[in-house]
Amino acid sequence: MQYDLFNRLVDAPQEKIAWSFSKIGTLRQCPRKYYYQYYGSKKRKALNEGSKETLIFLSKLSNKHLVSGSIIHTVIATYLKKRRDGDEWDLNRLNGWSKKLLSESILFSENLRDGISDVRLYPPDVLKEVYYSKVELSELKEEIETKIENNLTNFYESEKFDHLKSGASKHGALIERRASFSLDDSTKIDGQIDVAFKENDKTIIADWKTGKIEYQDTSLQLLTYALWMIEKEGLSLDQISIQKAYLQEDKVEELEFSEKHLFRARTRILQDVEIMRGLHEFGNEAISDAFTKCNQQKICDLCPFQEVCQN
Ligand code: SF4
Repeated sequence: MQYDLFNRLVDAPQEKIAWSFSKIGTLRQCPRKYYYQYYGSKKRKALNEGSKETLIFLSKLSNKHLVSGSIIHTVIATYLKKRRDGDEWDLNRLNGWSKKLLSESILFSENLRDGISDVRLYPPDVLKEVYYSKVELSELKEEIETKIENNLTNFYESEKFDHLKSGASKHGALIERRASFSLDDSTKIDGQIDVAFKENDKTIIADWKTGKIEYQDTSLQLLTYALWMIEKEGLSLDQISIQKAYLQEDKVEELEFSEKHLFRARTRILQDVEIMRGLHEFGNEAISDAFTKCNQQKICDLCPFQEVCQN
């Protein structure tokens, strides 16, 4: 409670909680990882955290799936921006640049492991598999290169993505744009739109998918993009088309949605935020024991915080 301008006792406004699809995904996957990622490794949160410096460092570690996805997104975004400016890169150039980015990431991870470079001074993604010397480097490199090349080849050659390539190369198209807005007074939504552009009377929003077709439901993530367009651009439902572009599988799927789906998405996010709010104080107080460990080998193997968590 607090006093307002007229000295009346009123409820204090709640602190705004930021929701994102990846944040709630981390919480559902492993609450302890959620603590490390969103409290323990943040400079201004969980100030009593005893492993703060280590967690900050570990939060910079990525893994082979994230690194390949990040390189594919970077190369595609650059291709679209260059094409918009009249400089159309061919497939060789896309593949060549992706290999350079991967090599930089590997070299930087090796140097970091060997104490030669500092993670805070240079930005390539750090591969935890290389940093911990967990795998045969040539096999890892080949695995990542093959995945990136398959994705980029389909992106470049398949007709299924032609409408997205030409639409996203138009002036005014959004490429890798942060989509952030308030759902209500206490909830902020954070997201990132891969591409969005106008086509006749519709706005098409597309999300590049770099893995296999998901059986995991990502419609909530995509519906937040629709909510963003409605909020920011004042669009109506029938003016929005949301498409999932599966690069590896060479397939585009359109998401069917109605007012009912949007209502359910809003409700679901508000429920998620209540759960996050319930944990917020424990996070800020650095009470990591309030966040259970998933202890699932497959998830732990990809987790950057293993070193602290399993000690
Ligand atoms: S190592 Fe496993 S249990 Fe620990 S935070 Fe990571 S995913 Fe969770």
